[in-house]
Amino acid sequence: MDHTKINLVVRLQHLDNQIETIESLQKGLPEEIDALEEDIAFTSRQIEAREKTAAEREKNRSNLTETIENCKSKIKSFKDKQTLARNNKEYDALSKQIEYEEKEIAQAEIQLQDIKHHEEKTKELQDQGRQLIAENRYDEISEEMMPDDILSQQLKDLKIQVEQKKEELESIVVETSGEVSSLKKQIAEQRKIVEKEAKRLLSKYDHLKNGNIRNALVKLHRHACSGCNTRVPTNRHTIIVQGGFYLCESCGRIVVHERLFEEAASENN
Ligand SMILES: [Zn+2]
Repeated sequence: MDHTKINLVVRLQHLDNQIETIESLQKGLPEEIDALEEDIAFTSRQIEAREKTAAEREKNRSNLTETIENCKSKIKSFKDKQTLARNNKEYDALSKQIEYEEKEIAQAEIQLQDIKHHEEKTKELQDQGRQLIAENRYDEISEEMMPDDILSQQLKDLKIQVEQKKEELESIVVETSGEVSSLKKQIAEQRKIVEKEAKRLLSKYDHLKNGNIRNALVKLHRHACSGCNTRVPTNRHTIIVQGGFYLCESCGRIVVHERLFEEAASENN
């Protein structure tokens, strides 16, 4: 049996493992950064929605106030005209116009009350939220209970956190970039060799990797596949000891003797 083919794949796994070790130095930072950015987007959307609501209320309020002012000045001018009215008909017509403007004012005032009521409700909910926070009852706080200032502070804190994580990750990436690019080059070269010499094994290896098994090729450990811990049949031990391989019946991983990994590691680095 020609065992050099499997050695080539072991070498490939050895190189892939090294890249993975370097990636593990990133300590889950990319995932943490993603999660923080999601939180930032969520909090920003909340703040934006609140600002939009507040701006709309403010705009409505100023429109309504203006309406009231206009109505008042119209009423004043109608009343002035009434003093100059030449007959009852003219006087009554002006009275009707005054009455109309007064109704407009009353309606605008109801709407202003409405805005005020909404604002009070908002404040009430936020006061409730502040109280719950003080009592550490965070799980009882609904989105709208979160006070504006605390929400803004949260956003600031999240942004600081994500910046720190990004810097940390960046420094790790910079520190390891030389090693990573050298490994990637070696992997590409190794893959070319394996492709040429052991195409079927490579497709088996890639198939496992694509199925999210990072350690497609593993050591025999205590007579078992070290990928899934399933016992390897005794009659297959000999071939493994001789430098051959065994396809684990349980997980499908390629199982080899650990000596092969040592050999692959000693090849250069
Ligand atoms: Zn297995």
